[in-house]
Amino acid sequence: MTATENSAIAANLERIRERVRLAAGRAGRRTEDVTIVAVSKTFPFEAIRAAYDAGLRHFGENRVQEWESKQPRVADLDATWHLIGHLQGNKARRAAGLFNRVDSVDSLPIVQKLDSALATDPTGERREVKAEERSKQLQILIEVRLSDEATKSGAAESDLPAITEGVAKLVHLRLLGLMTIPPFLDHPEKVRPYFSKLRELRDDLARRLGRPLPVLSMGMSHDFDVAIEEGATEIRVGTALFGERAAQA
Ligand SMILES: *Cc1c(COP(=O)(O)O)cnc(C)c1O
Repeated sequence: MTATENSAIAANLERIRERVRLAAGRAGRRTEDVTIVAVSKTFPFEAIRAAYDAGLRHFGENRVQEWESKQPRVADLDATWHLIGHLQGNKARRAAGLFNRVDSVDSLPIVQKLDSALATDPTGERREVKAEERSKQLQILIEVRLSDEATKSGAAESDLPAITEGVAKLVHLRLLGLMTIPPFLDHPEKVRPYFSKLRELRDDLARRLGRPLPVLSMGMSHDFDVAIEEGATEIRVGTALFGERAAQA
């Protein structure tokens, strides 16, 4: 990373913050209530450091393996590391150890695998949870699939109650809210109904659980303005911050 690339990231962040400020203002919301999650997939660890230096503290990666190779280079940074990509069962144990947050939980088997990864020591023996460890619970969001694009991951709306009740029984996981990736539509205004739908689902679930679910992770580079107007508390921003990505292998 050159100094020019670093200052490009800082300048991009200024533009993003301005969009956040305007969108929050239109909705009568506070800027501080919207967290920017920097999506660093495909970019080198230096880009994460540059974004951190510019002030960001939340980062999203979509592949366990890619993050495994970058993580040692940024392990000194005090940030929250989110997994935002589809998680396969055979990687749940590694993911549980490498991330603070899994934003892409989409099934009961994944919920159970994450919990048991945290409940067992490396020898595979189940051990008791001490009170002080409960604060180290893995935070999760349930990813909801709101369109019927077969290519999309995420839980169906009808699976939400069962997954939520499953999580509620587990001591190592803490459900904070919902995430969605709507279809890519050229006009962000057309995506609005997906965002408002996610908010409604979140409100219903919170009522059912009898406790708040504070996080709504929705909105990406081209549509986060609309997502903020519809209540997003976290936006996941890659391209607008780091620039265009090379295609992922
Ligand atoms: C890549 C990715 C993003 C960021 O997309 P941009 O359009 O580059 O901002 C957000 N969320 C998820 C789940 C992603 O995989």
